[in-house]
Amino acid sequence: MDAHKYSRFIRLAGVQDEGFEKVRNARIVLVGIGTLGGAYALNLVRIGTGFIRLVDRDIVEEHNLSTQLLYDMYDVQHPLPKVTAAKNRLNAINQDCEIEACPSELRQDNAEELLGGVDLIIDATDNFETRFLINDVAVKLNIPWIYTGVVGYTGVCMAIIPGVTACLRCMMERVPDTGELPTCETAGVWAAAAQTITAVGLTEALRIITDGKPEFGLSELDIQAGTWKKVHPEWSGDCPVCVHHEYSYLSGKTVSQSVKLCGREMVHISPGRQQNLNLPGMADLLPADYECTCTEDLLHIKLPEAEIYLFKDGRSFVKGVSDTERAKSIFNRYISV
Ligand SMILES: [Zn+2]
Repeated sequence: MDAHKYSRFIRLAGVQDEGFEKVRNARIVLVGIGTLGGAYALNLVRIGTGFIRLVDRDIVEEHNLSTQLLYDMYDVQHPLPKVTAAKNRLNAINQDCEIEACPSELRQDNAEELLGGVDLIIDATDNFETRFLINDVAVKLNIPWIYTGVVGYTGVCMAIIPGVTACLRCMMERVPDTGELPTCETAGVWAAAAQTITAVGLTEALRIITDGKPEFGLSELDIQAGTWKKVHPEWSGDCPVCVHHEYSYLSGKTVSQSVKLCGREMVHISPGRQQNLNLPGMADLLPADYECTCTEDLLHIKLPEAEIYLFKDGRSFVKGVSDTERAKSIFNRYISV
């Protein structure tokens, strides 16, 4: 390996030969290889990170290209799973890094296997269901992880070190209510906001890997408003995960969504707990060009690929698809979970 290739990186204070050796030996898993994951991967591979595992279930689609830096029209036309297209691109940039492509959805039954055997887990996903699962596994296996999120012009990032910092459950008791938050599908996503917030996550990653001085805390960025806040969430003395070691999202005790086919081309999605949604409020947040009708009890959204019926108690039907995974994917893209 040609160390000269990395000379500008090695020269950094806090890196030097010793830090670079740690980066070369580092094993990282990236969950999600879209807008955030691409920005993470492109940087990690260029500094010679030893091993990167990519976990993502999607294929490359044309609408990804406006925000996802890893892909091009070749990947859309073939079409390739995102992890395969990403591996090809990353290998072309730097063959010093070993890339493992896992075209899988992160679930309870495979989470420990996919997230295990690494020094750091990076969350580059778009939903809290997956993040709570990552939090359970990371605390159980004692692996640091970096929470990252982006929507619209805003981004959040926090390094979570089991036993050292607050964990996600210390900050949030449970997955937010259905539709409580905007999604990238409904609010859009500004790629530069994703790249800026991943710069925070990458710097935290470098600190963790090189045992540098911690600068932990939750960063909240609004690039349009020009604001950048840093808060330090308190460790909850009664956290079910990092204090009591109850991993309910991993064990399946807490189910945030159950999905079943009910008739031809109709899928029922249950939120796992009774909710009391403000449907008119949610309808107001949808883009004006969406075809939807709404009462206090039912929100109906007509999409090109399916229709979504969402009830006040959080239950919903996706009409027009007969595949439960596809129904869940459509629902989660438009309604946050
Ligand atoms: Zn905790």
